[in-house]
Amino acid sequence: MKILVVEDEQKVADALREGLEAEKYEVIVERTGEAAFFRVNTETFDAVLLDLGLPGRDGLEILRAVRARGLKTPVLVLTARDSLQDRVTGLDSGADDYLVKPFAFAELIARIRALVRRGRAAESVIGRLRVRHRPRRARPPAGSRGTGSPRSGRAARRAGQA
Ligand code: CA
Repeated sequence: MKILVVEDEQKVADALREGLEAEKYEVIVERTGEAAFFRVNTETFDAVLLDLGLPGRDGLEILRAVRARGLKTPVLVLTARDSLQDRVTGLDSGADDYLVKPFAFAELIARIRALVRRGRAAESVIGRLRVRHRPRRARPPAGSRGTGSPRSGRAARRAGQA
């Protein structure tokens, strides 16, 4: 289980890494929004813990950019901002959950577990759909028996999926 921690405060990042590793998670820490954005685009994580107050592009900007790219990685926002409006903005920007600092580590772990479970459930649904579609793609459309051009084959496959 691999977690990306995005946190610019060294002490907080170290505490998160230590606690998560004790729970057998593999932990990658990034200190800036830019570095975090690059990571989530190039590696697969089971969950992302995202601080909102970051130097440069802040957490909300990163979150919006990640969601705009269609990435579904579960994101848990960790922040000192605790007003109702901040929570609503965070969730509207694509966060899956929200935890206000300071928080109890046991609660963080429980929330990560719940996020990962929900992520897995969504993934398995997508996996089943892919499995059901694959045989249709592999077979030539009925009646074509190899006489159709690649272009008509593709069109038929597209039609079959619609
Ligand atoms: Ca911060």
